[in-house]
Amino acid sequence: MAYYGNVFALPKDAERYTSNCVNGICSGCGECCTDLLPLSESELLRLRDYARAHGLKEHRQAPFFDRGAVDLTCPFRNDHTRKCEVYEVRPKICREFICSKSKEQARRDRDDYHRTHRTYSLRNEVFGNPECVNFLRGMALKLTQKRSE
Ligand code: SF4
Ligand code: SF4
Repeated sequence: MAYYGNVFALPKDAERYTSNCVNGICSGCGECCTDLLPLSESELLRLRDYARAHGLKEHRQAPFFDRGAVDLTCPFRNDHTRKCEVYEVRPKICREFICSKSKEQARRDRDDYHRTHRTYSLRNEVFGNPECVNFLRGMALKLTQKRSE
């Protein structure tokens, strides 16, 4: 099931944008790769089909995995090869986002995507791992409880 909550309703000051590009070109560092992406339904279907056809396995970031914490990184990011394993079918936001833009421009672009697309957890949608969705639901519940105190 998709997660439709506004997970990006976080304090703006908590956002961190750094430019990891080299001479204005993406270095492939993967820092902007995340499990929660605004996608169209066709993009999601394409990712699912591609993952199935290529027998892709869910990647997990070792530091998160070892500590048993929630892994919010993209499950398609192979940190050993430093590659996106769905590069040829990566969604539009992955094609267009580049950290060398100004913080304000990056925020505007991101907000535009979130206005027009639903946010999905790739771990959940493609690999059936609901940890991020459960984590966000827990956070949303805590916020609701806090507001009603
Ligand atoms: S666009 Fe993303 S992957 Fe590329 S350099 Fe910036 S943070 Fe790294
Ligand atoms: S689909 Fe590829 S480019 Fe997009 S967040 Fe995942 S690893 Fe990064």
